Amino acid sequence: MTQPDLFDVGKRKPWHKLKGYPAKPGTGPEGMACKDCVYCHKIILSKTFYKCVNCRVAWTNSVNTDVKLKSPACSEFQDKLNLFDRAKEDMVNIAMKGKA
Ligand code: SF4
Repeated sequence: MTQPDLFDVGKRKPWHKLKGYPAKPGTGPEGMACKDCVYCHKIILSKTFYKCVNCRVAWTNSVNTDVKLKSPACSEFQDKLNLFDRAKEDMVNIAMKGKA
């Protein structure tokens, strides 16, 4: 009879079972994490949760749809710091279209 390994904590969930991520973590830009992404949304209730807005339709009240701030960025990553620059570009493009 074999004994089950009660302390087998080394196994990770396959990424497709992590319902809070729109794509496989680690497929985004090198060195970036969910905390740097514009889609990372902080929810403050009795506890604080972080969820990805890209998976909004899949959100439940469960940790299964949470993201971890330190998770490596996925391919849907958008840099939070470039958000202002992109908004400025969009405004310029809209203004240019208005003149044409
Ligand atoms: S990197 Fe951004 S898009 Fe990808 S799971 Fe994290 S918060 Fe969501």
